[in-house]
Amino acid sequence: MKWVYTFGDGAAEGTAAMKNLLGGKGANLAEMANLGLPVPPGFTITTEVCTHFYANGRAYPESLASEVDAALAYLGEKTGRRFGDPTRPLLVSVRSGARASMPGMMDTVLNLGLNDVTVGALAAEAGDERFAWDSYRRFIQMYGDVVLGLDHHAFEELLDDLKAREGYVLDTDLSANDWREIVGEYQKLVADETGEPFPQDPAVQLWGAIGAVFGSWMNARAVTYRKLHDIPASWGTAVNVQTMVFGNMGDTSATGVAFSRNPSTGENALYGEFLVNAQGEDVVAGIRTPQDITEAARLAARSDRPSLEALMPEAYAEFAHYARELEKHYRDMQDLEFTVERGKLWMLQARVGKRTAEAALRIAVEMAEDGLITREEAIERIDPSSLDQLLHPTIDPKAARDLLGAGLPASPGAASGAIVFTADEAEARRQRGQRVILVRVETSPEDIHGMHAAEGILTTRGGMTSHAAVVARGMGKPCVSGAGSIRVDVARGTLTAVGRTFTAGDVITIDGGTGQVMAGSVPMRQPELSGTFATLMGWADEVRRMTVRTNAETPADARAARAFGAEGIGLCRTEHMFFDHARITAVREMILANTPEGRRAALAKILPMQRQDFVDLFEIMHGLPVCIRLLDPPLHEFLPRGADEIADVAAVLGVTPDVLAQRAEAMAEFNPMLGHRGCRLAISFPEIAEMQARAIFEAAAIAAVATGAPVIPEIMVPLVATKAELDYVKAIVDRVAGEVAREQGTAIPYHVGTMIELPRAALRAGEIAESAEFFSFGTNDLTQTTFGISRDDAASFLTTYLQKGLLPKDPFVSLDPEGVGELVEIAAERGRRTRAGIKLGICGEHGGDPASISFCDKIGLDYVSCSPFRVPIARLAAARAAL
Ligand code: PEP
Ligand code: MG
Repeated sequence: MKWVYTFGDGAAEGTAAMKNLLGGKGANLAEMANLGLPVPPGFTITTEVCTHFYANGRAYPESLASEVDAALAYLGEKTGRRFGDPTRPLLVSVRSGARASMPGMMDTVLNLGLNDVTVGALAAEAGDERFAWDSYRRFIQMYGDVVLGLDHHAFEELLDDLKAREGYVLDTDLSANDWREIVGEYQKLVADETGEPFPQDPAVQLWGAIGAVFGSWMNARAVTYRKLHDIPASWGTAVNVQTMVFGNMGDTSATGVAFSRNPSTGENALYGEFLVNAQGEDVVAGIRTPQDITEAARLAARSDRPSLEALMPEAYAEFAHYARELEKHYRDMQDLEFTVERGKLWMLQARVGKRTAEAALRIAVEMAEDGLITREEAIERIDPSSLDQLLHPTIDPKAARDLLGAGLPASPGAASGAIVFTADEAEARRQRGQRVILVRVETSPEDIHGMHAAEGILTTRGGMTSHAAVVARGMGKPCVSGAGSIRVDVARGTLTAVGRTFTAGDVITIDGGTGQVMAGSVPMRQPELSGTFATLMGWADEVRRMTVRTNAETPADARAARAFGAEGIGLCRTEHMFFDHARITAVREMILANTPEGRRAALAKILPMQRQDFVDLFEIMHGLPVCIRLLDPPLHEFLPRGADEIADVAAVLGVTPDVLAQRAEAMAEFNPMLGHRGCRLAISFPEIAEMQARAIFEAAAIAAVATGAPVIPEIMVPLVATKAELDYVKAIVDRVAGEVAREQGTAIPYHVGTMIELPRAALRAGEIAESAEFFSFGTNDLTQTTFGISRDDAASFLTTYLQKGLLPKDPFVSLDPEGVGELVEIAAERGRRTRAGIKLGICGEHGGDPASISFCDKIGLDYVSCSPFRVPIARLAAARAAL
């Protein structure tokens, strides 16, 4: 077994393909070195060592020590440096690197190898005492924090004390001697706190840092991040040990991070930030606000601080060249880290960059248009669920804005919510159902749970690549970062801006597209789908096999769904049309009347309204299929509650409120979901089905004339368990069709089908298909009845099941392919055996879930139907399923 892989200028033992073994960072460093890019030499200790470490009571493999020694010897050859050498000391960084990138989750140690002797060598080499002692104190602080577990505040306090004593304001006020004094104090702090002197032997330092990286794989932040992102603990992390290069060796040195394309908008332009005379983490830590890399970005931001392009044109040109080359090599947008040490460019990291959904779309489409990737690859690069982000609201441009300040547009979308200053409070208020905006000076990995709970994130410090910005983009949450004119006092719990003070609970609005921060809740607008969105959807439509319909009953929903590309209505839940204030009394009257005549009187009031509903839907769908389901409410949803509602209905029916209350009481059910609903209603009260059928057929005739397009309604019978039930209701529909045809003097084309949403119906699908012209799988009820878990009561215990790992996913969100899925498959197969070409669709919530859509494609369903806002997701998911 080989545990250690070296890399350096122009050569490496590993490759990009070895991500599982070397971690993302290690594999990409190896690849960059292989491509001949200037990568500081180093070596990677494999993820298998991490696995071994945890499998063996935190012990290393036997040969690891000798392999590390050999790798250090390799670094010696490449750099002419040795650990502890009094003139040319080897200094290294030690970082984690898992298979999947885990930003900010793991710990890093820089400047390792410095001690009381080598600090002198560094000073001599750099010609800068101050820089050397500053580097040494940074190392002790990082090492103390990350490896020895000391509180970094304790170090900062010592520094603050010295500044106060000497009357300094900035770190730059400190002299070499001051830093030397700080180093002494830091060393004393370490000795006092740990009982041992700060380690002087670089080999001891190195093993301490390696142990800390492996140890941090199991720290709470890493465990939470893995849980949120489905990363198995068994993957482990690698450790990368790499020769230090210094971005803080004066004004010809710099360090930065960049993306080969804009990670927020996807624009094809190098995009990034850097700091002159700064070390590695300073840019992402958000402590100093960085400068733009390109002139174009600087001009766009109207910044008066020079760009890298202007300041260090040669290093910039070389870097821009590598960014393009790496993008071509990896065929994807790159997230890059670099350092310029006294004018010489070093590449420190390249990986596929995280991006917003908007950027992902634009990048995929433009890369396909440029021939860098295929259209199929473009489709495969977009996670259908991420399209949700594009459907985020934005601020209504006409809305009045009470502006409090502006920061960087770090992650798009707008959000309003109550101010909270801590992640815990964000979570607490969220649990109470409140929308919140997390407001911080800057965020750290400890804030992740609060960022999840918040609608959006606002920070007063840090750039586009700060922790807050990167994580918010990954989560698809609006974020404004670095809003420097806004003051946040976490201790007092106040936000101050433009002379006004806000406290927790006050509502603000942030606009992650412009960076603006506003008081109060500002009106928003629904998104328009951009050109690249339409292009990708067009490509998706070309490859998908299944059609995508929508579940809609209101004209507004039907129109929205059409705009999103729905190809018809897969489910119109007619009971939803009955809750309207103007109708509900008539509906209650119909249900509570105890004679057919009483019901007919109520139904006669509803018929014209219902007919108009259907005319609207048919007209909006303009010849596309419209599937209307006959009434299917659990009755209790319609029973009058409270004295007022009872009095209203009693008056119409001409009975006393007491009598009506008793009747309502008699209709109450213990388990309404398994009670008097679905086709059972039409069987008890055929008048209801008659009225609905009439409304449908009359509306079809009207709409056919109005649109000039034929209207062929699909009429769907809910909650069927037996063929006899379906036949009974179908006979009513057929009879009314005949009546309306005679009245209109023209035949009416239509189809009658059924929901398959009970296990018995799925099993008896063969005989049901003798009567049904189509099946629509009602997987909400089918999941409920297959699992025997009430849809309405599941929340209280299903979360526990998920937490305890008893179910992989919530079966009401993502179709259970094994149980419920098997029933769907059986029904599809038996239905087709009876009626070849029977139309099959799904209209449960699962019709908008990508994994479930993929299952539907696999078993050959003809269409999926989902809520309007999920239609684009379903179109893309159906395309990906077909690839
Ligand atoms: C279903 O049960 O899956 C379905 C679509 O019907 P409803 O949700 O209206 O019960
Ligand atoms: Mg149902």
